[in-house]
Amino acid sequence: MGGKTVIRGCDWAVTWNAGGGTDGSGGHTYAHGVDVAFEDGVLIHVGPNYTGDADIEVDGSGRMVMPGFVDIHSHPSSEPGNKGLNEELGSPKLGQSGLYEYMPVFRMLPEGAPHATRFAIWEMLKSGVTTFCDLSGNRENWVDEVADTGIRGVLCPMYRSAVWSTKNGHSVVYDWDEAMGERGLESACALIDAADRHPSGRMSGMMGPSQIDTCTPALIQASKAEAERRGITMQIHAAQSIVEFNEMTGRHGMTPIEWLDDIGVLTSGTIIGHGIFLNDHPWVHWPNANDFERLVASGTAVAHCPNVFWRRGIALNHVGRYMSAGIPLGLGTDTFPHNFLHELEIAMVAGRLMAGTFDQATTEQLFWAGTVGGARAIRRDDIGKLEVGCKADLVLVDLTHPYMQPMRDPIRSLLYSAGDRAITDVFVDGTRVVDGGEVRTIDIEATAAKLNEFQKVTISGVRKRDWAGRGIEDLAPMVLPTSD
Ligand SMILES: [Zn+2]
Repeated sequence: MGGKTVIRGCDWAVTWNAGGGTDGSGGHTYAHGVDVAFEDGVLIHVGPNYTGDADIEVDGSGRMVMPGFVDIHSHPSSEPGNKGLNEELGSPKLGQSGLYEYMPVFRMLPEGAPHATRFAIWEMLKSGVTTFCDLSGNRENWVDEVADTGIRGVLCPMYRSAVWSTKNGHSVVYDWDEAMGERGLESACALIDAADRHPSGRMSGMMGPSQIDTCTPALIQASKAEAERRGITMQIHAAQSIVEFNEMTGRHGMTPIEWLDDIGVLTSGTIIGHGIFLNDHPWVHWPNANDFERLVASGTAVAHCPNVFWRRGIALNHVGRYMSAGIPLGLGTDTFPHNFLHELEIAMVAGRLMAGTFDQATTEQLFWAGTVGGARAIRRDDIGKLEVGCKADLVLVDLTHPYMQPMRDPIRSLLYSAGDRAITDVFVDGTRVVDGGEVRTIDIEATAAKLNEFQKVTISGVRKRDWAGRGIEDLAPMVLPTSD
């Protein structure tokens, strides 16, 4: 921040055409020979021939400049600790999901949250994410910890009226405590106030009643009202598992989407993570509903996080259909790694496999979802695109990197071949946070060491948390047998 920076002579740029796109509401465009200048964290020039002065000059030759990605759904305080534990775990008698039997067993100690969060943000920054939504339990110092990494953070403290568990691996029980949910909502409001007040100007908030099946309708409605009052969004996990679909239809005789509509929150400004199990999903046999049409008509956004689901054989049906119908859709990294480019590639793979055709889940669609799509889902018009007046949140890609060759189409080279290896620099709010591929703000060796320590503690407590008393070798056997 402070002073003027110009990235001069970028060989390629992803610029913004305000009248472009299929509906004329704007679209990304390739351009060559572009100067990008910014001051006080805001873009003041995007185009050829910047003639103003500059305090800092960055050479753009051999580089593509593009907008930073917007990650609208992540759980960085816990997910990094699950690496090597739950990649191939789902409950065969609970709809293949890992949510009910395994997530509580592998939960890391709360003291590990700051380390896990830094680790996840390191991965995000290196893969070009400049804004992310952090869906975590509320904790002290959260705002400062995220702000210190240099990223732009939308903090979404999660709270709920019930806790789920399984005592037999084939049914889920809900332990209700409505007052707990109300206290959670109250403390979430305080946290969001603190985020809004943070001097960095990079922190903000989102309302987060955790899951459709663990919150009372009153808690969800109060959260939505609070989000509207503040002009922010609300995010809730819904239509994310077969168990939840059956639970909601069992309770109410309505699908999760119908029930959200019934209680008045299926509207613009609500984000559903993950919106998979609509009544017309091939795993659901519930013909007498119109979830997809309702979703389209409502303007409700969807947070699409394919990585955590494909590991369990589950996929959205299908991302190209959702986007073509106009459902506002952004991408998230619901699990480790928090490598956004990896997630983006999986979104294309899963989308085409589910559609059974190559012309769905196109590169253009998913690049849109990862940038402007995510920005619009969280009601931000000043990120996800390189336009004068927007935040100086941008990424430099090394076009000369061997993995980018032959270099005909830089976005394709980046997404299908090079991945985060070709990302050299990331600016957030005008500050260079990633420099020459290194994250300036995070000591990754120390962070990884801490994460290893906390994972060891998690593993040591698995047997007492598992309903069947199983140890780690039974729950998550190693890939290969060990010979010594
Ligand atoms: Zn999630």
